[in-house]
Amino acid sequence: MSVNYVCKHCHTLIGRIEGSGIDETRLGFHQLTPEERHQYILVHSNGDVTVRMTCDYCTEAIQMHPELSLLPSPLQ
Ligand SMILES: [Zn+2]
Repeated sequence: MSVNYVCKHCHTLIGRIEGSGIDETRLGFHQLTPEERHQYILVHSNGDVTVRMTCDYCTEAIQMHPELSLLPSPLQ
């Protein structure tokens, strides 16, 4: 399986973890509420996981232009 961290705004691949030793506790998923898990984590049928995050570039853009955070894809 693999875990892919993808920016939810610009869809940039931020990071990728591969291997069979991945568990939710190690990734910190257990700290999330069920609602947050639903919002941030996508589990695919083949066992791969996509974690939706905000990359540094978009974090900076949103800080400079807070109104952009209201839009789902401000940089597209
Ligand atoms: Zn981004």
